[in-house]
Amino acid sequence: MNGRLLGNEGREFAHKALDLMEQYGVPPTPENYAVWICYASDTNPELCESVRQHIETDQAFTDNLNADLFEQYFQWKAIQDAILESGGAMCRELGSVQQQLQDAERDTAAYGKALEGATSQLDNAQDAESMRRLVESLVSATARMQARSQALEDKLQATSNEVTQLRSHLEKVRQEAMTDALTGIANRKRFDETLRRARREAETKKQPLSLVLCDIDFFKRFNDTWGHQTGDQIIRFVAGCLTRHSQEHHVVARYGGEEFGIVMPNTDAGTAAEISERIRKTVESKKLLRKSTNEDLGNITVSLGVATYRDGESIEELIERSDANLYKSKTEGRNRSTTDTPGATRDAA
Ligand code: GH3
Ligand code: MG
Ligand code: MG
Repeated sequence: MNGRLLGNEGREFAHKALDLMEQYGVPPTPENYAVWICYASDTNPELCESVRQHIETDQAFTDNLNADLFEQYFQWKAIQDAILESGGAMCRELGSVQQQLQDAERDTAAYGKALEGATSQLDNAQDAESMRRLVESLVSATARMQARSQALEDKLQATSNEVTQLRSHLEKVRQEAMTDALTGIANRKRFDETLRRARREAETKKQPLSLVLCDIDFFKRFNDTWGHQTGDQIIRFVAGCLTRHSQEHHVVARYGGEEFGIVMPNTDAGTAAEISERIRKTVESKKLLRKSTNEDLGNITVSLGVATYRDGESIEELIERSDANLYKSKTEGRNRSTTDTPGATRDAA
């Protein structure tokens, strides 16, 4: 928690946070407390805005919402801290190389001077003894210089290895932070970021952008019958179907438990509807076997909702329309794909 929260002011914020949590029925867990003290002390504008919106729209602070708020503003922060820390290590490493380079520069200058001095002494060297001393001092200066160069080279090599390692570590952290652990596809965070970027791009490039939301039908029943692990197997199977049928530049994400989203940049309503229908058919037609025992699990189906970006629309509105279309698929009997773009529905090949 940040330093300015200590002392009287801190106690005031703590009381305010607890009062608010009680008022909105938020259980006093450490995670929730972290969120609400941040809100009470107005220390994170994005978090404050998000909490405010939920309060203003009278949304209940359910366990899910509380967990989301914490995950969004604190877990992510932990990853950012890791990135900053690695960045710091890289800077320290580079700083030490810079120091060595400066030292080496000084030594090179000194070596140059030694050579110059030796040349003038050579002119004056009269006897074998002074020649011998001269050569000796040159040999030792050269040896020092060589050792210094070798040390510098080793150091540069080590640093370059270190930087490569740090870079790949950062890349791994970044990827993990954006990936759903169960399926290996993008997670909600990457989905949100991709959609935001895709919307900006659609606006500037004047290209179509489509969004498909997909939800497994009667999945609770499936889980109850076959168990959570087999349920997980199905989630992975559906994730695979979505990935196989999407285009390379589409981003397939696990949006929630058994819900998925596909962000489809530069894809018109017709193509999106066609892909969506193809996914529906593939899932429906797959005879499922339990991996561990080969038992016949029957079939599952999915419902999908397709929407294509309308000029000036917000991300939330686009998601809402896809979701409304998905809901329509559900209420009209499930195992279907719905779009609200007239004439977009083509029969899938
Ligand atoms: P509908 O056709 O209306 O979508 O019905 P449904 O049963 O699929 O929908 P509901 O939202 O009632 O249930 C979703 C279920 O998904 C509840 C939960 O048990 C299950 N689920 C959510 N996340 C996971 C997960 O990670 N693994 C497994 N196995 N099940 C999950
Ligand atoms: Mg669902
Ligand atoms: Mg479902």
